[in-house]
Amino acid sequence: MKFSIVSRGDERSQNLTESIIAYLEGFSLIYDEKEPELVISVGGDGTFLEAFHRYVHRLSETAFIGIHTGHLGFYADWTPDELEKLVIEIAKTPYQIVEYPLLEVIICQRGNEEGERVLALNEATIKTAEGSVVFDIDINGEHFETFRGDGLCISTPTGSTAYNKALGGAIIHPSLDAIQVTEMASINNRVFRTIGSPLILPKHHTCVLKPGINSSFLIARDHSTDTYQDVISIQCRVAKEKIRFARYRPLTFWNRVKESFVSASDK
Ligand code: NAP
Repeated sequence: MKFSIVSRGDERSQNLTESIIAYLEGFSLIYDEKEPELVISVGGDGTFLEAFHRYVHRLSETAFIGIHTGHLGFYADWTPDELEKLVIEIAKTPYQIVEYPLLEVIICQRGNEEGERVLALNEATIKTAEGSVVFDIDINGEHFETFRGDGLCISTPTGSTAYNKALGGAIIHPSLDAIQVTEMASINNRVFRTIGSPLILPKHHTCVLKPGINSSFLIARDHSTDTYQDVISIQCRVAKEKIRFARYRPLTFWNRVKESFVSASDK
C-alpha cells in the first residue's frame, strides 16, 4: 500500500513523521506523496484540513487518518503513544472505511458565470471587507429571507463542532447528509429581519446567496480565505463526494464531542 504523511512541521510532529515512515517502510509499505492510498496527518485538526485539501483531487482513491501531537482532535484522534499499535494495524489489517459528507460551494462571478467549484471539510464562511453583507437567500429556488449582518457560515456535520459551534449552531452527527447555515451577527430591526436560528438543509436542497449591495466577498473554505470580485451568486449544497476515513477501532462521534467539550481527559 502507498501512503503519505502531512505534518504540522513542529519538532514533535516531524519526529513522529520520521518514525512512522521508518516503521511503515519496514513493513514494505511505499511512501508516495503523489498517489497515496492512505494519508496520515500528524498535528491537529488544522493539519488534517491541510491534508484534505492537498489530496482533494483524489478523494475516491484516498483514505485519511489523523494523529494529534497537541490536544485530542475531531479528525486527529490517535495519540502519539498509540503509534506502534496504529502502525501494526495499518501494515497488517485491512481498514474499514467511514464516509462523511462534504460541502460544495459554487461561486459565480461576472465573466465566470459557470462558477468556481470548491469543496470544504469543515465549512465555508462568507464575509466582506466592505461593512455588512447583504444577501437574498433562496432555498430550492424560492426566496427565503434577506440577510444583513457580518456574514454566514455554511458547515458540514464534521465541521459543526468548529466555527459553527462558536456561532451557536447545532452539533450534527456526520452520518446525516446535511449542511448547516449559521448567521454571523444578523441585523434584526424594523427594516431587516432574518430567521435568527441555524438552518439544517438535507441533501439535494440548495441554498443560493445573491448579493444585494456588495460585490466583493471574503470567502473562506476551511483554513484558507480568498477574495472574490463581481460575485453574482454563491450556491451551497451537500457535495456528491465524501471524505473517507480509515477506521481501525471504534471511536464514537459523541464520545469525541464529550472528550473535547464536556469532560476533557488528559489525552
Ligand atoms: P486556527 O484558527 O489555527 O484553529 C482553529 C481551531 O479549530 C483549532 O483549535 C482547531 O483544532 C479547531 N478545529 C478545526 N476543525 C475542527 C473541527 N472540525 N471540530 C472542532 N475543532 C476544530 O485555524 P486552523 O487550525 O487552520 O483551522 C481552521 C478552522 O478554524 C476553520 O475551518 C474553522 O472551523 C475554525 N475557526 C473557528 C473559529 C471560532 O471558533 N470562532 C473562528 C475561525 C475559524 P486544532 O488545534 O486541533 O488544529
